[in-house]
Amino acid sequence: MFEIPDWVFEFHGHYCPFMPIGYRMGILALKRLGINRVRDHGVFCLPEMGDRHPQTCMIDGLQAATGCTYGKLLMERLNYGKYAAIFYRPGEVAIRISVRPEFIDRVHRADFFKYRQRGIEPSKIPYDVCKKAIEPVLTANEDEMFKVEELPDFRFERPKGSWQRARCEKCGEYVFEPYIRVKNGQDLCIPCSGYRD
Ligand SMILES: [Zn+2]
Ligand SMILES: [Zn+2]
Repeated sequence: MFEIPDWVFEFHGHYCPFMPIGYRMGILALKRLGINRVRDHGVFCLPEMGDRHPQTCMIDGLQAATGCTYGKLLMERLNYGKYAAIFYRPGEVAIRISVRPEFIDRVHRADFFKYRQRGIEPSKIPYDVCKKAIEPVLTANEDEMFKVEELPDFRFERPKGSWQRARCEKCGEYVFEPYIRVKNGQDLCIPCSGYRD
């Protein structure tokens, strides 16, 4: 049986089956890329999930397993509304891992979702019900759960960051250089400039 460390559940906040699916997907990605959890930079994880559907809990599992976190700018949502993610190490072939539809169907058979459909938040659902919903995720093998493919043409890059900062001439707060906007000869932060970006 696959084990997910307690700190990951604590970080996520509740017991649900989708964070664990993301965690296992992340562990599989590390294995396929032949790397350990990312401590610094150099790997991107791009979940295909969107922001207009549930089950984005997977993203927390992906961050915890891979170390590709939002804070390190190693993660970006692609907004396709799909149960999948792309893992990319510049200079190497990207891989895409998707959750098999049959496995999604199996997970959704749990009583957990009857509570969710009644609008009950996961932390208010009895622990045993949650545990039962997570069980298939911890006992299934990787092939049953996931499909892995290579994406030879996939590229992703971020603009180069800047260490330069200056103080906005209106509010006096520090702003990083790429975000300074010049208005009427003044160097301003975006909110003070009134510009949208
Ligand atoms: Zn969750
Ligand atoms: Zn300002």
